[in-house]
Amino acid sequence: MSEIIVLGAGMVGVSTALALQANGHAVTLFDRRGPGEETSFGNAGIIQAEAVEPYPLPLDPKTLFAIATGRTNDVVWRMRDLPHWLVPLLGYARNSLPRGYKANIAPSWSRMILSATEDHARLIAASGAEAIIARDGYRKVYRTAAGFDKAVATAERYRSQYGVPSHTLSGAELADAEPGLQAKLAGAVHWTCSWSCQDPGGLVRHYADLFMARGGSMVLGDANSLERAGAGWRVQSNNGPLTTERVVVCLGPWSPALVGRFGHAVPMVYKRGYHRHFHVKDGPKLPLFDVETGTFLSPMRMGLRVLTGAELSTLDAPPSSRQIDRSTLAARELFALGERVDAQDWRGTRPFMPGMLPMIGPSEKNPGMWFNFGHGHQGFTLGPTSARILAEKMGR
Ligand SMILES: Cc1cc2nc3c(=O)[nH]c(=O)nc-3n(C[C@H](O)[C@H](O)[C@H](O)COP(=O)(O)OP(=O)(O)OC[C@H]3O[C@@H](n4cnc5c(N)ncnc54)[C@H](O)[C@@H]3O)c2cc1C
Repeated sequence: MSEIIVLGAGMVGVSTALALQANGHAVTLFDRRGPGEETSFGNAGIIQAEAVEPYPLPLDPKTLFAIATGRTNDVVWRMRDLPHWLVPLLGYARNSLPRGYKANIAPSWSRMILSATEDHARLIAASGAEAIIARDGYRKVYRTAAGFDKAVATAERYRSQYGVPSHTLSGAELADAEPGLQAKLAGAVHWTCSWSCQDPGGLVRHYADLFMARGGSMVLGDANSLERAGAGWRVQSNNGPLTTERVVVCLGPWSPALVGRFGHAVPMVYKRGYHRHFHVKDGPKLPLFDVETGTFLSPMRMGLRVLTGAELSTLDAPPSSRQIDRSTLAARELFALGERVDAQDWRGTRPFMPGMLPMIGPSEKNPGMWFNFGHGHQGFTLGPTSARILAEKMGR
């Protein structure tokens, strides 16, 4: 048994703490806030068993032109942030070329995704979180026939290549399945194997409570105080210094800043997203992704959560309401939204690696430092799976 401090108590950090604890280690979770209060709080809450391929950068000239000229809402950007993301984005573009993507990236990614629900299932059962989980999938809906046809072809490919089940609905069938839907759409793909959570931050808290009930501890403090202490590490908690043999960095989008101090230049594409909540009477029965406007509608305990796609940004860029305003308009075309629940927009950052795969493993430069970050669009899905992989690498 050895002592390990896990820096960061989002979905990834809490899952990592549980997996290391299960391997017999004495683990302390370390965060400046409570568990699941940042990115893992504000996402769409989908455990995406269908997301077997990570998002490559669209490289066709038509889409690139539309993004560059600000005609898309699923991807937006501001000139002021461009110098910060241009270099990581070029790496992302290189990795999105079909050869390497198909040969290396997609196979590694799909292996993780295909065990995500199984890895969550154990924790959901043990932490008593069943009440906030639904196992009836979510729908991607399409406004245009061209978009729908392409989606049906992808769904067929995913079924034959990866065994991922789905159910295709025509516009009329979708209208029957979603009586509150006000717009006539071309159709939908219902991804039946994915799960959804009505309270993503609450699920992380359930997992953190399980970790504590099993003898783990959680401490508040600033992870940026991390420093070498002999052969191990020291970090300053609000109650004084803590020392440990090994440390795992699970700081999501804040990870590159910390590991940068220890000689690791980690490029990251910061894909910011926004959400706001609405009261709604006849909202969607299932979570719904309006693909062509980049708008996600997720029924949550707090109300209907309307979320945006990606704003290519920096961690501390000031907020802009342009993308979430457009997504709200799109959501209003689909359903009759009532009053807003929350006064302020939430924003958070998908920690996206140019290579599309999370960093899971040891630092080659700093003995005793381990990484588990960079899960991009699917960190809520992949927390327990990447934790299991890391724990296997760290050993007993
Ligand atoms: C709009 C949006 C929608 C999304 N929808 C989905 C979805 O439906 N399904 C899905 O799988 N994924 C989704 N994601 C992605 C997912 O939310 C993230 O990949 C995931 O939450 C990352 O988890 P994490 O634990 O790595 O990071 P975080 O949850 O951000 O955790 C990092 C932790 O580090 C702590 N921290 C940071 N700096 C310090 C410091 N200096 N000292 C101490 N502590 C510190 C923070 O307080 C935080 O608790 C979405 C993301 C966004 C933005």
